[in-house]
Amino acid sequence: MKPKLQLVVATKNKKKLAEIKEILKGLNLEITSLAHYEKLPRIIESGKTFRQNAIKKAVKIAHFTKKLTLGEDSGLCVYALGGAPGVYSSRFAGRDKSDPKNNQKVLQLLAGLPLKKRKAHYVCSVALADKDGLVGVVEGRCNGRIAFAPRGTFGFGYDPLFLIPKYNQTFAQLGPRIKHKMSHRYLALEKAKKIIEKYIEK
Ligand code: IMP
Repeated sequence: MKPKLQLVVATKNKKKLAEIKEILKGLNLEITSLAHYEKLPRIIESGKTFRQNAIKKAVKIAHFTKKLTLGEDSGLCVYALGGAPGVYSSRFAGRDKSDPKNNQKVLQLLAGLPLKKRKAHYVCSVALADKDGLVGVVEGRCNGRIAFAPRGTFGFGYDPLFLIPKYNQTFAQLGPRIKHKMSHRYLALEKAKKIIEKYIEK
């Protein structure tokens, strides 16, 4: 059997990393994250799109580590808010950010709107790069609605608000068994898997 290919996931978010590892299990990979490195280059997420941010993370970290690197950028887009919080998802409530504060801000902005006007989707862009530059970029999307109050304890970020109409439950209620088979991250990583498999074969 071939030795495992090392893949660096360019994130410090432990919950995101756990989801990525779970979805990529089965590939012949040894996955590390930014927690394994010191003196990392600073990455300012200044892109206007998830795609731009994902590419920036992957290319910068691959240049630094000289290893195949996965850059991921994701967030929530709410139709009634013109696509916000979008690329500002992690810092929507401002400097003093936290998941509950971000959720409260979304709820306040949508106050009074009925369920049919609470359409939203998650987006996840995944970029792969190595020491020579960009290898590929893919995207996944998952549609839902914004609940009227937080529900459930699984997941992270906006999961307590992200309602899947088919189940009438949020991702935070449904848990990983269902989320990891339909989420934006799952859909993007399924496409990324194909790129990684080809890369392993090279
Ligand atoms: P990033 O680390 O800049 O990509 O920030 C992503 C932010 O989008 C997170 O901090 C969450 O607020 C939100 N987000 C992205 N994916 C998810 C998810 O799967 N569940 C809940 N929130 C998410």
